[in-house]
Amino acid sequence: MTLSDPLEPESVAPAVADLDTIVSLSKRRGFVFPSSEIYGGINAVWDYGPLGVELKNNVKRAWWRSMVQLRDDIVGLDAGILMHPQVWVTSGHVGSFSDPLVECGTCHRRFRLDELPGAEGLTAAELRDEGIVERLGLRCPVDDGPLSAPRRFNLMFQTHMGPVQDEASIVYLRPETAQGSYVDFKSVLGASRKKIPFGIVQIGKSFRNEISPGNFVFRMREFEQMEMQYFVRPGEPAAAAFEEWLPRRRAWYEAYGVDPGRLRLREHAPDELAHYAKKAVDIEYRFPFGWKELEGVHNRGDFDLSRHSEATGESLDYFDPATEERFIPWIVETAAGADRAAFTFLIDAYREEEVRGETRVSLALHPELAPYKVAVLPLLKKRAEIVELCHRIKADLQREVMAVYDDTAAIGKLYRRQDEIGTPWCVTVDVGSLEDGAVTIRDRDSMAQERVDAGRVRSIIVDRLAAARP
Ligand code: ATP
Repeated sequence: MTLSDPLEPESVAPAVADLDTIVSLSKRRGFVFPSSEIYGGINAVWDYGPLGVELKNNVKRAWWRSMVQLRDDIVGLDAGILMHPQVWVTSGHVGSFSDPLVECGTCHRRFRLDELPGAEGLTAAELRDEGIVERLGLRCPVDDGPLSAPRRFNLMFQTHMGPVQDEASIVYLRPETAQGSYVDFKSVLGASRKKIPFGIVQIGKSFRNEISPGNFVFRMREFEQMEMQYFVRPGEPAAAAFEEWLPRRRAWYEAYGVDPGRLRLREHAPDELAHYAKKAVDIEYRFPFGWKELEGVHNRGDFDLSRHSEATGESLDYFDPATEERFIPWIVETAAGADRAAFTFLIDAYREEEVRGETRVSLALHPELAPYKVAVLPLLKKRAEIVELCHRIKADLQREVMAVYDDTAAIGKLYRRQDEIGTPWCVTVDVGSLEDGAVTIRDRDSMAQERVDAGRVRSIIVDRLAAARP
């Protein structure tokens, strides 16, 4: 496959120039807050507020719909965050799930070597080179102090299971969800009676003690993954499955509104490949801080099932009744992050435009992803009949979708508030509605308004949502 898009960050503008625009909108409107803020916060953990939890749940639902609901060959799983500690020895994480760390001799801050200015383009071999800091003359980006030689820093969080805290009771908080799908492969296969090719997906929390977290929810120490492991015949069929999944996953972001011009593919160089991978391509997004990985698609060969089989003595092979062959399946993995995806949709949806001399801010979120689908607003909150009709319409809508009533400002301001949180439709009840039973539906993006019968609002909204669904 030829990978397109040799674009440099400069040639494609981000949807939002300054990340602070999104951070402050998120905080102000209740998408994302710093965790434990009244205690001064805890680095690299973020909490999702009332709107953020809706957005992230919608992202997860959209992903599950495309990966499980619409497919006959993929099933779901929800494995534990804590697993047998040997799993992580077998998987290679205890030995090599690490990043190169350097420390400043003056301020003692620690940095990921490959994220230091001047070291971004280093190859995997160079990152392992003990003399690299000296050779490149790298200095601390904060106080220009001397930096140590790089050492490997393991990213797994450890804790203890049970009442005794010794070496034998160490367990790890999983750094990825994938291993659950490998160790449960036999059970899922037996219970689901799937035939190869088939997939197992999981959505769940993962934990990494990142050396330099940052850029808001882009890199956190506690985050959520959405991963699929697709089990296929070895060799060419695995390569073919890889070529199918890569564009399919890219198309998923586009179907939910991400500008195709701000997505690109980046293939890992041979010396950059993870220990398990035969081939890896990142789907990258043009974040305000550069092109960065949004999702990884990997051909993992038979590494995982073979290793777990050797370590446990359990056979993890597959018998194909059609060809009477027995083999260890290869795995094509699509590894996405729920937080990174939600963050991307949020950034990419951000719009600012001049409307009658004022700046209108809106989030052009796909209706499926928007926290609220409809806001029901009274034009005159002093008229009890108007408020009552609003509540009736809202209660009717709530049976199907997230709907909200708001009367805390004048109509213009109410519209602006809903635009800013991405609500696709507002329904306004006015004095005329009391006479003719008609209300106004206003569209977020075009701001067009239409009069419809109040009794039809629910079915109109449900139909529009269905029509928008990819
Ligand atoms: P990176 O190179 O950014 O550290 P990675 O290659 O280690 O990422 P994977 O192990 O492939 O990432 O994880 C799959 C997905 O999980 C990533 O594409 C990303 O969406 C998400 N993810 C990984 N680490 C984090 C993190 N620290 N915070 C938020 N999301 C993450």
